[in-house]
Amino acid sequence: MSNKHIKVNAIKNGTVIDHIAAGKVLKVIEILNLNDNNSVMMGMNLSSNKIGKKDIIKIENRELSQEEANSIALISPKATLIIIKDFEVAKKMELEVPDKIEKIVVCPNPKCITNLEDVVTKFKVDHENQTVRCMYCEKKYELEHLKIKI
Ligand SMILES: [Zn+2]
Repeated sequence: MSNKHIKVNAIKNGTVIDHIAAGKVLKVIEILNLNDNNSVMMGMNLSSNKIGKKDIIKIENRELSQEEANSIALISPKATLIIIKDFEVAKKMELEVPDKIEKIVVCPNPKCITNLEDVVTKFKVDHENQTVRCMYCEKKYELEHLKIKI
């Protein structure tokens, strides 16, 4: 990925999330809890050599944490994340679904202790089968069916 293809000069400081799966950018906004206080530019269904169609979002004056970045990987594993500081690329991250997912997702099992008590959710990821297992109720779920906690 060369800088020529990333129009980073559009924002001074903030985060650019590129190569979001087409149609998922609104979900990204939801996950990141963006509101009126954030200046956001976004594009939907843009052409991409890498993934066909893509969405992109630029968020001004906000640097995403690793945890937030991981939550985006859950809905769009091919997304790339760029932190911009003073118009320069300060950090580039290829997102990856982590081996363990904590806090950011809800266990779909209504009887799971994480839904009944104040317990932080923990899931172990099986990358090969694209499934996760709740470490409390031990139930298995398809990665794409997990609900993100917002
Ligand atoms: Zn559970």
